[in-house]
Formats: sequence, C-alpha cells, structure tokens
Amino acid sequence: EAKQRGRNHYHFYTQDINAQTYRHLMLENELSKALERDEFQLHYQPQISLATGKVEGLEALVRWEHPEKGYLSPGHFIPVAEDTGLIERLGLWVVRRACEDMKRLEAADLPVPRMAINLSPRQFRQTDLACQYAAIIKEIGIQASQIELELTESTIMQDIDKAVEIFEALHRLGFRLAVDDFGTGYSSLNQLKHFPIHTLKIDRSFVRGIPQDRDDAAIVTAIVAMAKGLGLEVVAEGVEARHQLEFLKALECESVQGYYFSRPLPYDELCEYLQDSCSTNQQKQSASS
Ligand code: C2E
Ligand code: MG
Ligand code: MG
Ligand code: MG
Repeated sequence: EAKQRGRNHYHFYTQDINAQTYRHLMLENELSKALERDEFQLHYQPQISLATGKVEGLEALVRWEHPEKGYLSPGHFIPVAEDTGLIERLGLWVVRRACEDMKRLEAADLPVPRMAINLSPRQFRQTDLACQYAAIIKEIGIQASQIELELTESTIMQDIDKAVEIFEALHRLGFRLAVDDFGTGYSSLNQLKHFPIHTLKIDRSFVRGIPQDRDDAAIVTAIVAMAKGLGLEVVAEGVEARHQLEFLKALECESVQGYYFSRPLPYDELCEYLQDSCSTNQQKQSASS
C-alpha cells in the first residue's frame, strides 16, 4: 500500500515537473523573440530624499508585454532569462533604454540626478561587463556617476573574490554600487567592508513591520546606524504607509522608495509625476521663504 502511494506521489510529482518544464520551455522560446519584437518595457520608480522631498533617483524595473499573457513581472521571466543566458542581451537593452530615457527627461526639463539598474548574478559575471556598460553610457552621453548598479547580497556572496574584482573595475569607471535587498543575504560586515559600495537598500520585508514589529524596528534601526557609521547612503524599499515613513524620518534614513510615493511608472506617467512633484516643491519653497 505504501508502495502504491509512493508511486502515485511520484506520478503527480513528475506531472508537475513536466508542466513546469513545459512552461519554462515555452517562455524560453518566446523570450528569445521578445527582444527582437520589442516587447520589453521599463518602468521607473522614484527614490525620494527625505531631507528635501525631491526625487533624487529612479529605479529601472523591466516588464514584458507578452502578446497573449499581458504584462509579466520580472519575477516570472528573469530566472528563465538567467538560465538561458538571454539576460546578458536583455541587460544591455535595459542600460541603453534607461540612459536614453534619462536623456529624454533632461530634454523635457525634468532631469533626474541618478538611475538605478539591477544586475542579476549572470550579468554580474558577464565578461567585460564594465567595459560594455561604460561604452553604452558614453555613447548616449550619461556619466557613470549617474548610474547606480544594484546587486543583491547573495549575488555578491556567491564568489566574494570575484565580486571584489568586478566591483573594483566598475568603481574605477565611476559607477555607483548598491547592495539590494540588504539584510536577507547573510553577508558579514567584515566581508562587505572590502567593497567600494555607496548605498545599502534595506529589504522591504523589514520595512513592512516597522514600527510595531519590534524585531523589524530593531533591524532597520541597526542597518541605518551602521550605514551611517560606514559612510554609506541608505534607501528603504517598500515604504507603503505614513507610519513607516515617520519611523524612517526619525532615524534620518536618507531616502525611500515605495508605493506610498509611487509605483513604478511607465515613461509618460513618470513625466507627469515629476512635473507634479516639481511644482509641489516650488510651492513649498516659496511658502517657506
Ligand atoms: P528589486 O530590485 O528589489 O525591486 C523592488 C521590487 O519591489 C519591484 O518589484 C518593485 O515593483 C517592488 N516594490 C516597490 N515598492 C513597493 C512597495 O511599496 N510595496 C511592495 N509590495 N512592492 C514594492 P518588480 O518590479 O516586480 O521587480 C522584482 C525584481 O526583479 C527586482 O527586485 C529585481 O531583482 C528584478 N528586476 C527588475 N528589473 C530588472 C532588470 O532590469 N534586470 C535584472 N537583472 N533584474 C531586474
Ligand atoms: Mg533593485
Ligand atoms: Mg530590492
Ligand atoms: Mg527583491
């Protein structure tokens, strides 16, 4: 009887795997065409300075407008792109598009100081990553110091020696570097201190519970204090509510990102957002002078 049950289990299990493999193969096939068909888009989420209330940066987040399935979030297809290696080409497309849009914003008199771009593990280890990215931004006329590359702790920790080497190459070219989802990757500070990092991004799983959850409150407080001690900037991710914002302000966290201010926006909506936030800031300034 146990054998029977075992076999049934096995049966369901393989069916499950097959369905998964099938979906994976379909995606793989469609993904490779998606770049040529121009089906990817970038949405931009504003990063707000708590001291000035101004937008000091944007995070570029990729979306796939699938012809039948509609909008697909990166959580769905980045892992497949990573497995197949397509991520390298997609990554080059992302930097190019993000820099072009920065230029468009400048021309529309809505300049934003900085653009944050995510790198997955495979991109990070891509040969000549630093040179390729440097060539693209130079061609478009963006300074490396305007670009912040985001890497998760786990990407960095996979191979620390290699990571130090790549960070140094990027740093020499003038790129800013951020540790994304900070607090989830079990890195030790002792290891991170060897890296030329500018920014820590506090993972939104810790921001969610502040200020009521004592553990989250303690963790966020400690990360902000530590970042300050190390001379790093801090961005809190996933700020959705006023009470979270107040807590972060009291800690003098530099900047925040989250639905409380804005979801990631397509270019046209971003322009409207920037226009509105510009005039709000002007009103505040004339009111206080
Ligand atoms: P991430 O870099 O940690 O990006 C933050 C994610 O949190 C985004 O999800 C964003 O939409 C979401 N988010 C922002 N504010 C809030 C909030 O207040 N509440 C909640 N619940 N969520 C919020 P998204 O766009 O689905 O991206 C997921 C992940 O996919 C990113 O995590 C990043 O690791 C990856 N990704 C996105 N774009 C790219 C890309 O161009 N290249 C690579 N390699 N990875 C990317
Ligand atoms: Mg990120
Ligand atoms: Mg993150
Ligand atoms: Mg994340």
